[in-house]
Order: sequence, then structure tokens, then C-alpha cells
Amino acid sequence: MLAAAVSSTDGIRTRAETALTRCGVDLAVFKGDAITARTPITGGDLFALRADGPEAVDRAVEAAQAAFHDWRTTPAPLRGALIKRFGELLGEHQQYLADLVTVEAGKIRSEALGEVQEMIDICDFAVGLSRQLYGRTMPSERPGHRLMETWHPLGVVGVISAFNFPVAVWAWNTAVALVCGDAVVWKPSELTPLTALACTALLDRAIAETGAPAGVHQLVLGAAEAGARLVDSPRVPLISATGSTRMGREVAPRVAARFGRSILELGGNNAAVVTPSADLDLTVNAAVFAAAGTAGQRCTTLRRLIVHESIADTVVERLVRAYGQLPIGDPFQDSTLVGPLVNEAAHTRMRESLDRAVAEGGTLCAGGERQLAEAAPDGYYVQPAIVRMPAQTAVVREETFAPILYVLTYRDLDEAIRLHNDVPQGLSSGIFTADQSEAERFLAADGADCGIVNVNIGTSGAEIGGAFGGEKETGGGRESGSDSWRAYMRRATNTVNYSGQVALAQGVNFSQ
Ligand code: NAD
Repeated sequence: MLAAAVSSTDGIRTRAETALTRCGVDLAVFKGDAITARTPITGGDLFALRADGPEAVDRAVEAAQAAFHDWRTTPAPLRGALIKRFGELLGEHQQYLADLVTVEAGKIRSEALGEVQEMIDICDFAVGLSRQLYGRTMPSERPGHRLMETWHPLGVVGVISAFNFPVAVWAWNTAVALVCGDAVVWKPSELTPLTALACTALLDRAIAETGAPAGVHQLVLGAAEAGARLVDSPRVPLISATGSTRMGREVAPRVAARFGRSILELGGNNAAVVTPSADLDLTVNAAVFAAAGTAGQRCTTLRRLIVHESIADTVVERLVRAYGQLPIGDPFQDSTLVGPLVNEAAHTRMRESLDRAVAEGGTLCAGGERQLAEAAPDGYYVQPAIVRMPAQTAVVREETFAPILYVLTYRDLDEAIRLHNDVPQGLSSGIFTADQSEAERFLAADGADCGIVNVNIGTSGAEIGGAFGGEKETGGGRESGSDSWRAYMRRATNTVNYSGQVALAQGVNFSQ
């Protein structure tokens, strides 16, 4: 199903200007000729902006480091007051921020609002966390001694983020890092500078209102070079980088070479197993959102469906029918469920993967065609695709960042789990089943090998309360909830001797 028309670039530019102004951004300050803010809705250019060169990135790191020296001794609950205020400001500006997410990432209204909600939620979480940065105490083996651990702020955290979650991933990192007493330098995707300017303006306002050190958050605009400068900075003890596995391969060794820490949140190739006992209404519903939602541009997008051979024809038939009903078009229109791909390159990669899939024996069951090319010649709208594959071939084992769902079949659960795990990535997974023993097997040590393993839920749409991230080529990082905060702090083990005597551990005797 197609929407008739798309918004005009001029109309989108005006909407973006209004949203930026309401969030407190003076765009004139950022005008330049280095990067172009554009919208995937029409593919049109919105604003020409400056980028930060190496010296500017260094200055941002210096300013953040200076602010860190004050911030690290500010009591954690007072640091939480900054995030509390920031969360309030996000709530007051939710509509404008969501406008910008739609403008730059092409997300439909409900998902754009949801992404901003995720920022608000992580702020709530971080405020609570500011009173719970717990260390443990352990019994000492020596009389009159106390053994404990203390968590201290780490330093400047470099946050590099991807276009597809232009604000939420930054907020996961930043809200937690700031209550942990760190300072943050953010290098957003060069495809989404406007959302970054808006969020930064609101955080700067919260910083000023709560009396936090002015430099505790810094924004640097630019492409990979600006990120690389941050990655190589010895004054940035932690790099949290979200993006493609290609980017992670460049970033990880460089951070490791200077003994920095990294949190890597890289590509996924997420699968769900559909067993014969699955509730098919629920399964098809969940799979359509997970595979076609966000036009297949989530790291957790469902890319492989591993279906028991006895129900495969039925499942494919129902999916094809549901895909035929998906409203595709301008994400600002309320009825739209599938917006545009981010740019032409993403469309080219989708076409290439579909051609490869067919060459590798696949059957295209639905979709793949470009849509709305007349209404938006520079916008790339596609009909989400379903391809039945005879085996898990090379193209299926790669992440193509577009709405392609490969369907594979299996005979027994061992085979399904083997297929599931036999890809280089390890982010998110799911099983649809009414059989508890199958569900438990999938969750067990010899089940799915991902960082996120769901039962009767699609692979996308995680809540902030859990730790988010994945294994293998997904990079191994964990962010957001649970105890992910520990990655943003340094642990000191403290032994205190109140006995008045020297007593050595392990009974060592060194007396003269
Ligand atoms: P990308 O790798 O092209 O860019 C991501 C960010 O890294 C951008 O800010 C970019 O400027 C920067 N960058 C690129 N090369 C760099 C380098 N050498 N040094 C420093 N910085 C560098 O990714 P993208 O196209 O923006 O996003 C899509 C990808 O991100 C997909 O692979 C998706 O799965 C992944 N992703 C993963 C997660 C996760 O949590 N695992 C979340 C969102 C997106």
C-alpha cells in the first residue's frame, strides 16, 4: 500500500527549523560547508553545517577533561539532579525531538516518539542509579581488616553513534556516564547532526540550570575522521562506539593499542525460530514489525526466520499477505508504517543483496521493488522483501541494512539452533513456541548465542532496563540498564587495616 505523496523538502526544512529553535539551537552558529544535513523523506538537502577538525576535537576533549575534575567529586545523587532536569526537558520537547528524528532518520511518528521516550526512560533509570552505584564488601582473611570495593568515575567517555538511533543510544551512554561522574564527548553520525544539536542544547540548558560544570558534555560534528581523532585520544579512557562491524574493526584495535577501553555495539543478523506449536497470529504480527519496521534499519531487525518445515508454507503465505498490507510512504503521515531507506547507497546494497540471494538459490516471495520514485525521485522507499532460501548461504550470513527477511526451514530444534548460531554476528534472537521445553532449550547455555534472547517476542524493541548488546562480531559491549554502568567506572579494591599490627595475606611471614 502506498501513500499518495510525500512532504516537500521546503516544508521539512521549516519543520526542522521550528523544532531546532524550540529546543534552543541557534543554527547560525553551526553553519558551514563541511557536512550537509539532509532528509531521507525526499533525499533533499536541508542545511550546510561546519565540521570539527582535529584541533577542535582535541579542544573538546580538553574542556571535558577539565570539567571532569570537578564533576568526579560532585556527589553522585547531585549528578543525578542534572539528569533529572534533562529528562524533564526531554519530556517537554518530545514532539520537537521526534520531528527531528523523523526528518533525519526517516522514522515513522510512533517510532520517533518512542526513541525520545527511550531517552526519557534512561534518564529515570540513571537518576535512580545515582543512589545505587554499589560496591561490595568481602570478608577479609586477616583479623582487624576490612576488604571492599569502591567505584570511581573513569574520565572522559567518547560516544560515537550511528544514524539509525540518532538520539537513544547517545542517551543510554550519556545519562549513565554522567551520573557515574564521567564527562562525555559525543560524535554523532554525520547523517544526523540536527538531532544531536537539539539534544545538546537541552542538555546544556540542564547543565546551566543545575550548576554542573559547563564542559561536562561536548558535541563534535563530523564524519569518520572526527570519530577517529576521539578514538586515538589518550585522554579518553573509554570509547563507546555504535555502528557497523566495519567501523568496529577500525576502532577496536586503535583503542586497544593505547590500552583504552571500548564498548562496541556493532551489526546484527538477528533470527527467530518458529516451532510447530507457535501461535501463528502472534508470530506473524511480531515478525512483521521486527523485520519491516524502521524499514529494516534497526541493529535488532529480524533478518532470518527459521521455520519448522511443517508450517513453513503457511508462515510464508501469511507473511506475504501481511507485507502486502504495509503502508509505505512519508513517515510524517499517521498511517505510514514503513518509511524510507536512509539514502541511495542503502538502496543499492539492498538491490545487490536481493540479486545475490536469487543467484544463491533463493526465491523472492514478496517485495524488493522501489516505491514512490515519482513523488520522491531522491528518496528511497522500498517494498520490504521476503526471500525463501534453500540454505544459509553467504548473503544470508551478512547484515544488509534494509528490509530483507530470509526464510529458512529446519527439521529438529538442534538443527534450528545450529542454523541460528551459524552467523558471525550475535545480537538479538527469538523463539516462537508454546512448548516450554523448547523455550528453555533456546535460553540455555547450548541455545541461542546472542546477547538478547527472547521468547514469543520479535528481535527488536528492547527495553532500557536490561543490558543491551551482543556477542561475536556485534562487539561484546553492554549498555543501558542492569549493571552496564560498571563499564563507565573504575573499580578500586580497598583493604583497610584497623588492627594496629602488620598481617600479611596468605599467612606470609616477613618478621625480622
Ligand atoms: P557506520 O559504521 O557507518 O557509522 C557509525 C558511526 O561511526 C558514525 O558516527 C561514523 O561517523 C563513525 N565512524 C565510522 N568509521 C569510523 C572510524 N574509522 N573511526 C571512528 N568513527 C567512525 O554505521 P551506520 O550506517 O551509521 O549505522 C548502521 C550500523 O550500525 C548497522 O550495522 C547497525 O547494525 C549498527 N548498529 C548497531 C547497534 C547496536 O547496538 N549493536 C545500534 C545501532 C546501529
